[in-house]
Amino acid sequence: MQQLCAPPLARHPVSLRPHQGVPVKRYVYITRRGHFSAAHRLENPAWSIEKNMEVFGKCASPNYHGHNFYIEVTLRGEVDPDTGMVVDFSDLKRIVDRHLIDQVDHKNLNLDVPFLRGVNPTAENLVVKFWEQLAPHFPSGMLYKITLYETAKNVVEYYGPSED
Ligand SMILES: [Zn+2]
Repeated sequence: MQQLCAPPLARHPVSLRPHQGVPVKRYVYITRRGHFSAAHRLENPAWSIEKNMEVFGKCASPNYHGHNFYIEVTLRGEVDPDTGMVVDFSDLKRIVDRHLIDQVDHKNLNLDVPFLRGVNPTAENLVVKFWEQLAPHFPSGMLYKITLYETAKNVVEYYGPSED
């Protein structure tokens, strides 16, 4: 009886585009998840407290509030034929921990983090600054996406700077 299963693997791994003879790239995306807890307060210092409360609601409360943030850092790369890996997950973890998590965990994002100085720490602004913090530690073009969960329901994604 014929088994119902996945189609057989190609007899010859496809390494060339048909008719073009152009090598194809096989990008694999790998993601490291991290977590940190931090306090912040949303504020545009050019506005009155009333206007800040109107725009940012409870998040403008003068005495700060906290979140349990989750972050996902996604790299894109080809699989190294020698290692079978895009990047060793332990290297990715080390970079994310050292250059991001350790910088922000149990900190006040408005006051304690040098690379966030002068930034209104909305999730959107945070994810852009996190990109700037991490990108230099990966080969050019390898950092693909950062996803920041401010809450379980509020999520922002950033794919890095673009020209359009
Ligand atoms: Zn908040």
